[in-house]
Amino acid sequence: MSSYDFDLFVIGAGSGGVRASRMAAAMGARVAVAEERHLGGTCVNIGCVPKKLMVYASHFSEDFEDAAGYGWTVGERSFDWPTLIANKNREIGRLNGVYESLLTNAGVEIVEGRAILTGPNSVRVGGRDITAQFTLVATGGHPSRPSEPGQELGIVSDDVFYLDKQPERILVAGGGYIAVEFAGVFAGLGSQVTQLYRGDLFLRGFDDDLRRALAEEMPKKHVDLRFGSIIDRTVKTSNGLLAELSNGESLEVDQILYAIGRRPNTAGLGLEAAGVEVNDRGGIVVDDYFRTNVPSILAIGDVTDRVQLTPVALAEGMAVAKTLFGGEPTTVDYSDIPTAVFSQPPIGTVGLTEEQARKAHGAVDIYRSSFRPMKHTLSGRDEKTTMKLVVDRQSQRVLGAHMLGPDAPEIVQGIGIALKAGATKQAFDATIGIHPTAAEEFVTMRERQPDPEEVEAAE
Ligand code: FAD
Ligand code: NDP
Repeated sequence: MSSYDFDLFVIGAGSGGVRASRMAAAMGARVAVAEERHLGGTCVNIGCVPKKLMVYASHFSEDFEDAAGYGWTVGERSFDWPTLIANKNREIGRLNGVYESLLTNAGVEIVEGRAILTGPNSVRVGGRDITAQFTLVATGGHPSRPSEPGQELGIVSDDVFYLDKQPERILVAGGGYIAVEFAGVFAGLGSQVTQLYRGDLFLRGFDDDLRRALAEEMPKKHVDLRFGSIIDRTVKTSNGLLAELSNGESLEVDQILYAIGRRPNTAGLGLEAAGVEVNDRGGIVVDDYFRTNVPSILAIGDVTDRVQLTPVALAEGMAVAKTLFGGEPTTVDYSDIPTAVFSQPPIGTVGLTEEQARKAHGAVDIYRSSFRPMKHTLSGRDEKTTMKLVVDRQSQRVLGAHMLGPDAPEIVQGIGIALKAGATKQAFDATIGIHPTAAEEFVTMRERQPDPEEVEAAE
């Protein structure tokens, strides 16, 4: 047994920190975890979980409308924001308790308060000095704010979950996961929504066909999409907030939500005192085993400013526990990470986009399908599902699978296993579909799209 107070001290009880703590303790390590806010971190309190509950809440407006085509008469409808927030808070409170039990049952000591590093093997929490053989920094990140005048009048995603009142008019600035998801949430709940993105097309990094398809669907759901512009200045008016845009337009709304990316939580953490290296965005630099340049200090999750997803932070936490206390040095494979955007309709995606695949593999076969979901034959809703497979022409390995449509995140999770297993297009073709589903389209797409050169030559 080492002479330190603990074998592992974890800073931050979020997705990564909780997983690393529990697993290390299960492997016999003496572990403590410090948390300055709520157990469960961003995902449980102000991220994935409350966001998904709000997505569910917002979808009912369409569901009620769609019911009519199936013979239902739905009575008068109204939505009460405080009820949703109160019920959401109750569920999050329950989850906080679950996390507390998980940690204490595993034998992990929970230390309440803000921890700072005081050296390679020491931390301070609320005046208490604690030593540890290893310290794991899992402090996550926080929403970025822009620098334009009046930006302080806007809110960020942390605030959305605790608004007293639903904004009647909201401007969502940004074109990433959070902006797209909340534009859909507020539109579904009946707010008047404008989404502003600085580039030509939002969701940079996702497959272009899906980006374009979502940009066609969102306006049908009453999101006013405005690309190629940013907010120059915001001023308060007697009726709300007036945003002056870089394209010369101005817009009056009740709230402005900035969803323009997140930054690692490294400020004031004592990293300098401990000599830990950070990159120019403040992210902690780690090697394949999550070790910083100081051998006793490791870092995982959003604070490393790489892939900001809960399942990735979990995998990293698991890898650290195994490496330090399981006698099994473990890295994380970052290829083919499935991911979803809970837009409306949602996106599920895994592997390479067409553009990435062409760059990395040269010749690729593209299979694409766009259709009206069966549910909407009777509901009459004008909504299209888009599905796409990107296949390496030479090996016929499926390099990417992308979907925009109801249940896409649920469907693509399974397709992710196939990609991880190196499935070929022939393996997809040999799989019998489940009928009638949208998912079966992934195993029945047979018609290869013409190459861009073939299209050009034909024109
Ligand atoms: P976090 O979960 O952020 O945990 C860090 C913890 O450290 C926090 O609890 C913080 O209070 C604590 N802390 C920080 N500094 C200190 C200190 N000095 N002392 C003590 N405690 C400290 N990912 C998905 O996979 N799917 C989704 O649907 C999804 N939706 C999201 C929606 C939103 C609105 C946001 C903001 C994020 C979403 N994410 C989603 C991303 C996901 O939440 C993060 O990638 C994940 O939580 C990162 O885990 P982490 O352990 O690195 O950090
Ligand atoms: P993203 O990085 O996904 O998107 C940021 C967006 O803001 C981009 O469209 C970017 O434009 C734009 N932007 C950046 N800086 C500015 C600026 N100064 N002015 C105007 N626009 C700007 O960040 P999010 O905040 O949406 O989410 C953070 C991360 O959290 C995500 O990347 C994801 O990893 C995670 N997350 C995951 C979810 C999920 O799994 N469903 C849901 C929510 C969050 P450009 O593209 O031009 O750079």
